[in-house]
Amino acid sequence: MSEHRARILDGKAIAQKVRDEVKQEVTALFHQGVTPGLAVIVVGDDPASHIYVRNKGRACHEVGITVFDHSLPAQTTAAELQALIHSLNADARVHGILLQLPIPAGLPASELLDQIDPLKDVDGLLAANVGRLWLGRPRFVPCTPLGVMRILAEAQTQLAGARAVVVGRSILVGRPMAALLLSADATVTICHSKSRDLAERIAEADIVVAAIGKPQAIAGRFIKPGATVIDVGINRLADGRLVGDVEFSVALERAAAITPVPGGVGPLTIAMLLHNTVLAAKIRHGLVAA
Ligand code: NDP
Repeated sequence: MSEHRARILDGKAIAQKVRDEVKQEVTALFHQGVTPGLAVIVVGDDPASHIYVRNKGRACHEVGITVFDHSLPAQTTAAELQALIHSLNADARVHGILLQLPIPAGLPASELLDQIDPLKDVDGLLAANVGRLWLGRPRFVPCTPLGVMRILAEAQTQLAGARAVVVGRSILVGRPMAALLLSADATVTICHSKSRDLAERIAEADIVVAAIGKPQAIAGRFIKPGATVIDVGINRLADGRLVGDVEFSVALERAAAITPVPGGVGPLTIAMLLHNTVLAAKIRHGLVAA
């Protein structure tokens, strides 16, 4: 067995740093008469969604962001949701609107998302914000990949010229992740379920970001010695344990740095939502350019 052990990137500590920064910004905004507000819409009774929403609400309260909680029954109609989104768009106390996904099947998720004012789109999922990201003029960037960039910055990972492989191409994680790494001058490859040569691509990568959603789908032996490994995946095993998408125990012996699951990327996602909400409040009050 090798003696080598990767540096474990402590997402909890980095997230705490972001929260402290956000709290200071919220305090500065208070002095200018602005209280950032986030409206959270959750439809139906998906237990995971309710846990996420509760954690998001708690994190907002801790830094002084007001939460407008809209927990709605699964029978809510598209017209009712649309009317709610329009009223939140018009509400000056609400700077950010978050529609917690997934919403019950049968409701038109993307059409409803499209109703959100792009200046209140703190999840960064609307075409206007996705387009800006790919144009290299980001406004609201999805929270998870934004959090990954913060982890890479804290780890002082060299991005310019690095070979980065993003595994997963979702709207929420993989695609915006690739856009951010590209903007940071990495040479980016995006892999997905149809990729023929995943192992070869990973073996070349200086940076691997895994966002697949399959427990330990990336074998540790694929990892190039000295690589930085960011594991976005959160998978619950039958025995109740949470694991990522990377075979952590083996990757740990090859990588230079690696995020654990839990305690890696997860905590950054909520911290970045706070960051985006404060950004929305600043934009609304003309404190930064839209
Ligand atoms: P999606 O299911 O939307 O996307 C998964 C992606 O992985 C797809 O692009 C899919 O390819 C690809 N994929 C699936 N199987 C393989 C495979 N065997 N090899 C290569 N690629 C594969 O998931 P999300 O992006 O929303 O989430 C990914 C993971 O990250 C999940 O575990 C989720 O729980 C977690 N997550 C964690 C967050 C955090 O805060 N840490 C936040 C958000 C998500 P294709 O497009 O071809 O189907």
